[in-house]
Amino acid sequence: MADKETAAPKPEVHEFKAEMKQLLHLIIHSLYTHEEIFLRELISNASDALNKIRFRMLTDRDVLDADADQLIDIKLDKEANTLTLSDSGIGMSREDLLGRIGTVASSGTLEFVKELKKDGGPVDASLIGQFGVGFYSAFMVADTITIETRHADKDSVGLRWTSDGGGSFTIEETERENRGTTITLHLKEDKTEFAEEWRVKNIIRKYSNFVDFPVHVEGERVNTVDAVWHKSKSDVTKEELNEFYKFVSADSDDALGHLQVSIEGMISFKALLFIPKKAPRGLYSEEYRYGVHLYSSKVFIQDDAKDLLPDWARFVKGVVDTEDLPLNVSREVTQNSPVIAKIKKVLTTKILGLLKEWAADDPEKFSTFSREFGPLFKSGLQWEFEHRDEMIELFRFESSVKEEDESTGFEQYVDRMQPEQKDIYYVLADSRASALRNPNMEYFKANDMEVLLMTEPVDAFIMPGIPKYKDHDLTSIEKADLKLDKKDRKGAKSLAKKDAKKLIDRFKEVLGDRVEDVRASERLVDSAATLVTGSTGMDAQTERMMRMMDENFESGKKVLEINTAHPLIRNLASLGDAEMVERSVLQLYDGAHLLEGTLENPADFVKRMTAFMEASTGASTQTGEDE
Ligand code: ADP
Repeated sequence: MADKETAAPKPEVHEFKAEMKQLLHLIIHSLYTHEEIFLRELISNASDALNKIRFRMLTDRDVLDADADQLIDIKLDKEANTLTLSDSGIGMSREDLLGRIGTVASSGTLEFVKELKKDGGPVDASLIGQFGVGFYSAFMVADTITIETRHADKDSVGLRWTSDGGGSFTIEETERENRGTTITLHLKEDKTEFAEEWRVKNIIRKYSNFVDFPVHVEGERVNTVDAVWHKSKSDVTKEELNEFYKFVSADSDDALGHLQVSIEGMISFKALLFIPKKAPRGLYSEEYRYGVHLYSSKVFIQDDAKDLLPDWARFVKGVVDTEDLPLNVSREVTQNSPVIAKIKKVLTTKILGLLKEWAADDPEKFSTFSREFGPLFKSGLQWEFEHRDEMIELFRFESSVKEEDESTGFEQYVDRMQPEQKDIYYVLADSRASALRNPNMEYFKANDMEVLLMTEPVDAFIMPGIPKYKDHDLTSIEKADLKLDKKDRKGAKSLAKKDAKKLIDRFKEVLGDRVEDVRASERLVDSAATLVTGSTGMDAQTERMMRMMDENFESGKKVLEINTAHPLIRNLASLGDAEMVERSVLQLYDGAHLLEGTLENPADFVKRMTAFMEASTGASTQTGEDE
């Protein structure tokens, strides 16, 4: 047995998991632009580690180096070609090194790998922070990385982790007295610039100016640690805002707009919030991290503060700082805190106020907002009772009288209504093109009546909850009992009442209980027949959605409407009992389903169609022979 005193234990070698290897390979070979962001990632990790120890010491001072300065220190060595970053944060245990540094922590990593592979070409490295794999970005500039660390627990040991980013890493015990972590990057031959003081300082000013702890380079403090949100509105410059936004959001673009709030009274807080120009990655995924950081009297409490905003506003990034919370407030407490609930209430009103302002004064900005966040915003309607009406005012939809991508709201629709029109008409569809193809549109087109084209999946969810806008009923153009004025039907002559009734009876006989009813249509102009929603039924689109969620969903019966002025229908009326009539009825019925996207048996449909073609081509050949 080896003597413990003399034989220094050999470093343990650990293999990276396969996906980790893949990730490292991609980082080293496919990230080219913005490689300097590795420093932002390392500083952000150090700042997190400092926040963790600061938080713990609020209740427990029995830790290693209780009096250590809380700062981030960077040393550069041009000769050795190294950059060394130290923090006096919480440090890491062996489990941390293995579980957090050595392996892939979240599914985000795999997503990142996929994203990198998809593009093939050079990839913007600044994306990396959004995937929770920031540490590894250091391998863009370093050929070897060493982490020396010791956890703040008093019984911890010093540890050294080393890797060259290839297949493996090593861990060994070291002598280390101080709490915290020191990361040494041995820079690649062509990355010596990151051992230059001016370069490193510039990167810190650009990306890490607002970190909560002092960052020193060669003993000199570089960042301002300025709580921008404490300044008065007039003192904050545009540059500062942009810079701060990029810091809190890790976005490389400027924000679409911002909101600065300062409230004093029953509760006091300051907030500086931003709406991004583009929906942040993963906005709809379970793992999405909210981007509002909570501070208490300028001291960081938590990022990802979910409870400060309504769910529909989870794209908002920024900072909320209040004096009304204790510093050592835990996540559980913030969840149920009346202070947080009040702040949320105020912020909800303010955000809606900002959106209203954009809708009124800056349509272009507002349409960017609607395009990026409209569906999420609409989905919030179900939870928002107090602000319901305000939200509905801000909903945007495509319209039959507007160009593609040019959206409109209910208010503007009402302004454009025909003099005698009372209802607001809409159609649910999965695309603009299919909405416009719907035969039920014909009447509205012919009479210059606008129809809102509800093409976002969320529309089908929210519309049943919005029966009215002001005094106007919201009416689906697929509803059976539309009371329409018989205006322009292109002067085509309809069947006489008696003939129409006879033909309709024949339709009913053939279709039996497949339909709720068969009626003469008021709305068709060019098409011969259409399906509309029966008394128990739903829109075709809603039905399709229900069927997607529940395969046993039974759709309600439809009403078939026929255009009694259409030549085909008139022909059928004159054919009497001929067998051809029955087949035509079935074909019309199936054809209407085909247009709705709900045809169940295309084989029958095509078979009948073939028979019709055979008959009509046969007829023309016959005529040819006769001559
Ligand atoms: P992320 O920071 O998004 O979790 P990283 O790959 O950058 O992803 O870091 C992985 C984990 O390693 C961190 O979550 C943290 O637990 C640990 N870690 C990294 N750097 C430090 C540090 N300086 N001090 C303590 N822990 C650290």
